Amino acid sequence: MKIINFDHNASTQVSPSVLAAINATYGYGANSSSTHTLGRKAAMLIETVREDLRDVVNGQNYEIYFTSGGTEANNTALFQDFDKIFMAKFEHSSVYNARPQNCEIVEIEIKENGEVDLSDLSEKLKNANSKNFLVTIMHANNETGVIQPIKEAAKLTHQYGGLIHSDMVQSFGKIKVDLEDLNIDFATVSSHKINGPQGVGAILVRRGIDIKPLIFGGGHENGKRSGTLNNAGIAGFGEALKTFDEKFAKLQKVRELRDFIESEIKKIASDDVKFFGQNANRTANTSYFALRGADSQTQLIHFDLKGIMISAGSACSSGTTKASRVLKAMKADPEFSNAIRISLSVDNTKEEALVFLEALKEYYQKIKK
Ligand code: PLP
Repeated sequence: MKIINFDHNASTQVSPSVLAAINATYGYGANSSSTHTLGRKAAMLIETVREDLRDVVNGQNYEIYFTSGGTEANNTALFQDFDKIFMAKFEHSSVYNARPQNCEIVEIEIKENGEVDLSDLSEKLKNANSKNFLVTIMHANNETGVIQPIKEAAKLTHQYGGLIHSDMVQSFGKIKVDLEDLNIDFATVSSHKINGPQGVGAILVRRGIDIKPLIFGGGHENGKRSGTLNNAGIAGFGEALKTFDEKFAKLQKVRELRDFIESEIKKIASDDVKFFGQNANRTANTSYFALRGADSQTQLIHFDLKGIMISAGSACSSGTTKASRVLKAMKADPEFSNAIRISLSVDNTKEEALVFLEALKEYYQKIKK
């Protein structure tokens, strides 16, 4: 059975060139802290990737610390001895559950269109009574794809004397990220959402901000993240960064395919379907919708039996399909609470879309009965 991958917000396949970069680095297997020739070769490779990463996000004024992925980068930003953390209610669990002791967490409301409510943020910042606070708002939501007003949130945060972090795992490689323009203090990126390997990510920290490490040891990464670096993973990450221009050039094609799928779903289910985040600015590849009366488990099984990979809400929790915190925050109608997320890549085709739509029609007819 041909597998159709409509679940690229969960992870992506590494491309042959990324695999080749990983293999080449494993091929000489040196520790980038070693002073011999191969150690220096590995260290040089890592510095090249660090520079390439700075280039793709306009991050010349940021220090970059490589991590084991987006989760660790998010935790690093949050565990910095802040008095208060203001976090949007729709944050990924690697932010939402990263709650340091002795730190007050203030949750920020979400509007029905899937955007963070900046007036709620503003109101809560007014009463912050602290200058030692962090605001954390993701750049694009992993379930809805809705792109958030980070630049405005950064302005507000700085006005009240705090720092701002953005989890950019889902915007990175899907829209152009310009850290200088957004004016944020910390950013999280992850390699496996951009056709790089899993287990690699980075936190970008504005120069001049001193962070304390989460992991202690031999003092790697300037003492901010100890542990032998994942050279091969970082090499693969670096190779994946080289595909950004190609990805951006194909965004329109991805958007057209997503819009085609949504319009066909509307034809199939009419008033029995609700799309989430459709009235906001979204990443081109993501569609999030629910059929009236659908059941989370059975719909996933239905598509899986046909070889179609999709997600029910956030897939990152451990294979569970519990109700989406994001939809709850958006005050979605409970009749439409068992949502499906499809997330495309530049390689998905119209033929695949037609197979998916046929499967959806079948499922819809089943629940209608
Ligand atoms: N943040 C967001 C928005 C994500 O979608 C994910 C993964 O799904 C993460 C963070 C976690 O990143 P990683 O899997 O690299 O730990």
